[in-house]
Amino acid sequence: MFDHPSYDHHEGVHFFEDAASGLKAIIAIHSSALGPAAGGCRMWPYATGEQALRDALRLSQGMSFKNAMASLPLGGGKSVIWGNAKTDKSPALFEAFGRAIESLNGRYYTAEDVGVTTSDMALVASQTKYVAGLDTGAAASGDPSPITAGGVYRGIKTCAERAFGSADLSGRTIAVQGVGSVGGYLCDHLAQEGARLFVCDIDQETVTRVCERTGASRVNTDDIYDVDADIFSPNALGAVINKATLGRLKVKVVAGGANNQLASPDMDSALREAGILYAPDYVINGGGIINVAAEISGEYSRSWVMDKLDVLIETLGEVLDEALKASLPTNLVAERIARQRIAAAKRG
Ligand code: NAD
Repeated sequence: MFDHPSYDHHEGVHFFEDAASGLKAIIAIHSSALGPAAGGCRMWPYATGEQALRDALRLSQGMSFKNAMASLPLGGGKSVIWGNAKTDKSPALFEAFGRAIESLNGRYYTAEDVGVTTSDMALVASQTKYVAGLDTGAAASGDPSPITAGGVYRGIKTCAERAFGSADLSGRTIAVQGVGSVGGYLCDHLAQEGARLFVCDIDQETVTRVCERTGASRVNTDDIYDVDADIFSPNALGAVINKATLGRLKVKVVAGGANNQLASPDMDSALREAGILYAPDYVINGGGIINVAAEISGEYSRSWVMDKLDVLIETLGEVLDEALKASLPTNLVAERIARQRIAAAKRG
C-alpha cells in the first residue's frame, strides 16, 4: 500500500467484505485535518481490485482538495463499491455498506456518486447517520445541481474578467458540452445574461428543451470542440481535455462543472501554453459539496450555502490571479493552495 503510485499519505484505507450480501468496498480517507472526511460513494465494475483501490485513493485525495478549496470544515474521503450497478445491487448490500461506514464512527461521511442513487443512500442511512445527499430528513439538501450551476456561472464570469477584461457575458459565444442538470441550469444563467450559446448532448430531447428555453444553437456532440467560441464549458464527462481535443479548441477559457476534465496532469501546462485560461474543475464546481456540507452540519441553511459560494468564487479568482502572475498552470496553483490549507490545519 505505501508504495502504491496513487498513495498520497492517506490517513486510512479501509477494506470491507460482507459474504452474505456480496459487498466488497473500499473507504479511503485521505485527510481529516480540516474535519471529518466527506466524499461520495461510487459503484463500478472494476476489472481488478487494484483498479478499485486506485480509484478510491485518487478520488479521496481529490475530495481533500475540493473541500479545502471550498473552505469547508471537511476532510477528503471517498468510497468505492466493487460491483455492477445494474446487476449487483440489493438492499442487503447497501445495508452492509452502511454498517461499514458506521464502524468508522463518523470519520467519513458518504453521499451518492456514479452508479449510486439517493434511494440506495436511504438504505445506507438505515444503518448509519453519516450519510448526506438525501431527499428526505430534517437537513436534507436535495438536488445540488442548481447550486453547482450557479457557482459555475459565476466562475465563468470570473474567468471572463481575466481573459477578456470584462465579466460581462452579453454577446460572448459559449460552447456548452452536456446540458443535463448542471449544464441545463447553467445555460439558463448564461442566456439570461445575453450570451450566445452552442450546446450539445447525447440526449437530443434534452438539447431541444434547452434550445427552446434559451435560444441556443444545437451542435453535434463530435463538433463541440470546433465551435469558434470564446469559452468552452464541459458539463458532461471527465477527460475531455486531452491531446486530441486541445488542438481543436479555439476558445480563450475552459470553465465548466464536469469532474476530472483533464485527461492527464500535463494538460494543465498544455492549456496554459495554448493561451487558454482553465478554471480548475474541483474549484469551480464546489457548489455541490457546499450544499452537501450544509446537510452534514445537521441544519441546512441557504444563506450559509450562499456565503460559502461567495468565498469559493473569491478563491477561484485568487487561483487565476496567482497563476497568471507567476505564469503557472491554474491547476498547479489550486493544488498548492489546497495542500497549504490542509498542512496549516494539521499544524493547528
Ligand atoms: P447529468 O447526468 O444530469 O448531466 C450530464 C449530461 O451529459 C447528460 O445530459 C448526458 O446525456 C450528457 N452527456 C453524456 N455524455 C456526453 C457526451 N459525450 N457529449 C455530450 N453530452 C454528454 O449530470 P450532472 O449532475 O449535470 O453532472 C454533470 C457533470 O458535473 C458530471 O461530471 C458531474 O460529476 C459534475 N458535477 C456535478 C455536480 C452536481 O451538483 N450535480 C457537482 C459537481 C460536479
